Amino acid sequence: DIKIQMTNITKVFETQSMETHALKGIDLTIRSGEYISISGPSGCGKSTLLSILGLLDEATSGTYMIEGHDVTKLSLAQSAAIRAEKIGFIFQQFNLIDELSVFDNIALPLQYSQQQYSAQEITQRVEQCLECVEMLHRKDHRPNMLSGGQQQRIAIARALVANPAILLVDEPTGNLDSKNGDAIMDLLEKLNNDGTTICLVTHDPRYADRASIHYNLLDGQIQKAQEPLREAV
Ligand code: ADP
Ligand code: ADP
Repeated sequence: DIKIQMTNITKVFETQSMETHALKGIDLTIRSGEYISISGPSGCGKSTLLSILGLLDEATSGTYMIEGHDVTKLSLAQSAAIRAEKIGFIFQQFNLIDELSVFDNIALPLQYSQQQYSAQEITQRVEQCLECVEMLHRKDHRPNMLSGGQQQRIAIARALVANPAILLVDEPTGNLDSKNGDAIMDLLEKLNNDGTTICLVTHDPRYADRASIHYNLLDGQIQKAQEPLREAV
């Protein structure tokens, strides 16, 4: 069961008289239930690839399929609708709304969805996602009363609430100390064990190694990483 399939994706940026070939023929398949990571040095194309995966930007050439649907060339309205339905985003910034309760923050994607959710369905899904991230007891709090690690848990619940095909995760621990960062990485692993398909983009090799499949992105080209070398004993 294939969630994501990119074939020969390229991205060329043209600025003034200069061309930057940010992606040079990316082939990437992500199957249901996989946890993949993509890492590489600054400027290698991580943000560009993530933007295309998340339908925030279009490739210059190549084919992109999500759950068997060709999403290569869409209108802005179409890509917004598919993004809302199929993609869960987690960023370094939590992007929560401090004027709303935790519950209402997580309910937002369902309220803006084109699918009609009843109030009862919304309550059920929001509480289920809060339980997944072990934050149900904080549902009436405002985000700014929570720690960074707790806010990231709320952002993860919000990303899960519309039951997306894939979670796209961009440097999720960038604003956290190592203890909270490790806890968020543990949570991602738990969600994956429960069946969530995850694509993690990070420059941190320690975190990249926690995915089951690890790719290196180097100068616009992607390559499956070797098994980590084990130290001789
Ligand atoms: P990373 O996220 O790995 O640091 P990026 O995807 O941001 O890499 O960038 C890849 C290459 O594409 C870099 O050379 C960068 O300068 C260039 N690039 C990215 N976005 C743009 C843009 N909007 N316009 C022009 N060049 C860009
Ligand atoms: P990250 O910190 O995730 O690697 P970057 O700092 O590389 O992100 O890029 C942040 C944003 O700036 C991205 O949306 C990228 O497309 C854009 N960008 C990167 N390089 C350039 C560039 N040379 N010209 C214009 N925009 C760029």
